[in-house]
Amino acid sequence: MTNRAATIIDGKMIAATIRQSIAGDVAALRTRGVLPGLAVILIGDDPASDIYVRNKIRACESVGIHSAEYRLPATVTQSAVDAFIDTLNADQSIHGILLQLPNPAHIDTRALINRINPAKDVDGLHPLNIGKLVSGAPDAMIPCTPQGALKLIQSVRTDLTGLHAIVLGRSILFGKPMAQLLLAQNCTVTTAHSKSRDLPALCAQADILVAAVGHAGMVKADWVKHGAIVIDVGINRRPDGTITGDVDYKSVVPRASAITPVPGGVGPMTIACLLANTVAAAQQITA
Ligand code: NAP
Repeated sequence: MTNRAATIIDGKMIAATIRQSIAGDVAALRTRGVLPGLAVILIGDDPASDIYVRNKIRACESVGIHSAEYRLPATVTQSAVDAFIDTLNADQSIHGILLQLPNPAHIDTRALINRINPAKDVDGLHPLNIGKLVSGAPDAMIPCTPQGALKLIQSVRTDLTGLHAIVLGRSILFGKPMAQLLLAQNCTVTTAHSKSRDLPALCAQADILVAAVGHAGMVKADWVKHGAIVIDVGINRRPDGTITGDVDYKSVVPRASAITPVPGGVGPMTIACLLANTVAAAQQITA
């Protein structure tokens, strides 16, 4: 069977368009004396987290969002971080609080997330925001990476009604909210994970296949239905420091109707959606 060439979904370009529009929103907020502010908390010295935080801070600067970076030592106590979050919750110059994950083992991450004021929870991980997402509340703070992945899908197909979407991965950070977003778009959604049976046959049924497992090149060509939209969320570091996705890109491209590359697909959208959530939080808090 011959396929038309797959559309390579350019996440960098779509993210740049979103950032341009956010810069306009920031300018509008500034005219009424509001400077949106994002606080990023990084506990410990994980090198990958360090890069992610630096990129987020730089992105804030590029659209005029005020950012504050707080680096806490790996030995910091839970109660010290609790107190720190309380301070940021009360700080009127801060509208978004992001706790960079993962945290050192002695830190109770869930308790910290629960402590963040839900109105400032720009990662969308607070139980109140998860509940709002599941119940379809319009003011839900949507986690950044699934929000960005949905925008990429919608860049190639706006009406997803009735499509079978398969999400590989069930993390609270990505897989679960992604499945909810697709359900809200009237997809029939299957969530697969490490205990699912016969993944190749299952994935081959997907009209939309979203991979977020953290295993380089796991999704092979014969896992992909001809004409499927394939979204690769994985970020896997090769020994030479470059990154690669969860999809075996070269072999899958000829089968897909559209596919995201890694890098340059979902990654830039995560940051663009973080900026969007920060501006939305500033708009809601100061309304
Ligand atoms: P995670 O918390 O480790 O979850 C991975 C999920 O994949 C789990 O649900 C796990 O199943 C499933 N899984 C693992 N091995 C599997 C296998 N062999 N077969 C089927 N399912 C398997 O990871 P995450 O935070 O969701 O992230 C997933 C990937 O996305 C990572 O590469 C991460 O770096 C990347 N990511 C990228 C961005 C971005 O901005 N581009 C943002 C977030 C994450 P169980 O639940 O059964 O263990």
